[in-house]
Amino acid sequence: MTPAYLRCISSGCGKVFPLASSRFACENCGSLLDVAYEFAPVEPAALRKLWRERLGSEDPRDQSGVWRFRELLPFLAPTAVPVTLGEGGTPLVEAPRTGRWAGGVRIWAKHLGANPTGSFKDLGMTACISAAVANGARVVACASTGNTSSSMAAYAARAGLAAVMFVPFQAIAAAKLAQAVEFGARVIEVRGSFDDAFRLLRAVAARSALHLVNSTNPFRLEGQKTAVAEILEQRGWRAPDFLALPGGNLGNVSAMGKGLRELVALGVMDRAPRLAVVQAEGAAPFYKHWKTGEPIQPVEHPETEASAIRIGRPANWPKARRELEWTGGMVESVTDGEIEEAKAALASDGIGCEPASAASVAGVRKLCRAGRIPAGADVCVILTGHQLKDPDYILRRRERFEAARVVIDADEEAARRALEALLPA
Ligand SMILES: *Cc1c(COP(=O)(O)O)cnc(C)c1O
Repeated sequence: MTPAYLRCISSGCGKVFPLASSRFACENCGSLLDVAYEFAPVEPAALRKLWRERLGSEDPRDQSGVWRFRELLPFLAPTAVPVTLGEGGTPLVEAPRTGRWAGGVRIWAKHLGANPTGSFKDLGMTACISAAVANGARVVACASTGNTSSSMAAYAARAGLAAVMFVPFQAIAAAKLAQAVEFGARVIEVRGSFDDAFRLLRAVAARSALHLVNSTNPFRLEGQKTAVAEILEQRGWRAPDFLALPGGNLGNVSAMGKGLRELVALGVMDRAPRLAVVQAEGAAPFYKHWKTGEPIQPVEHPETEASAIRIGRPANWPKARRELEWTGGMVESVTDGEIEEAKAALASDGIGCEPASAASVAGVRKLCRAGRIPAGADVCVILTGHQLKDPDYILRRRERFEAARVVIDADEEAARRALEALLPA
């Protein structure tokens, strides 16, 4: 079996810990931890072929878009049964109108909202709940802007674990709360921000023997990193020029970067795309840090309608910076108005997503306008969550809604007039 351990990411420390340790910060210096492997050399063509052949298999692991790539996840013993809901295997579709709107680039949308609970969090949750079970956890917990808790609740139910979630009171989408409640999670609503909820959870977790499944749990990122393998496979292993995604707690960009690094190191792909991470203007501490080079400053009252990325203290920023540096990446910030326009552009291609996801597309347009993404570039955007996660966002835009609908009596003449009003000649 491939040797695997937890390793502190700080270059000055680098201390290693056994996989079974359930602490997710370095005991020596407090930095974040990576799951690290000593991969043996592989035959890239044979590995790509093996992954593809598994698409026709009945093994539940092969029907998961995470565990189908299990050679990249050797933290789980080969005999262990992962906790899976058939996550992954999501579509990659071109968005031509959106590409023209953004400034004449080719945009490919990888829709991670097409996962079992409707967000990319499922890719991470299958990995980290499987690791939690292997380590004997009984109660899992997270702080969440909504999607992490929906996903945790589903995978915890599947594994027979209790789940507790800390969420900002009245600040997450109703659909997300409904999902978690149906899966039986206990809900603690904090009068405060996501960052307050996360701080409280961390303060009480150790004493209450809670097993944390936020993205500071490095096993989350192991699952999420497989999205890049799936994208590359769907593209015949030709890397796009750019890979753009929204950034909140910055776990996903860290996962994508780690996945790319490992695939390049194994020789499975020859070059990595440049990563572009996009924050909402009212919640953009990492953007400011990247742009100014100043130490990162938390945003005390993060504000954006894109609630999934309303985060003022992104826990994974050192990992995100590492991944952006090695891919020659970039960071952008966009207004809520720009997010709304991007969401409408995607909708014109028949693609729905939640507001936070559209930030990636809004960022691509801004980077095109600044000349940092050249016209004609091949850009893959990660759509992080499903359109139906936040229908209130759509319905709050009454003008668009009202312009598209007419209520009539059950009467033929009324139907004719309604058609004429809605579809003028
Ligand atoms: C969690 C989430 C994000 C942010 O991802 P991070 O890993 O926290 O940066 C973006 N969009 C959606 C829909 C999410 O659920």
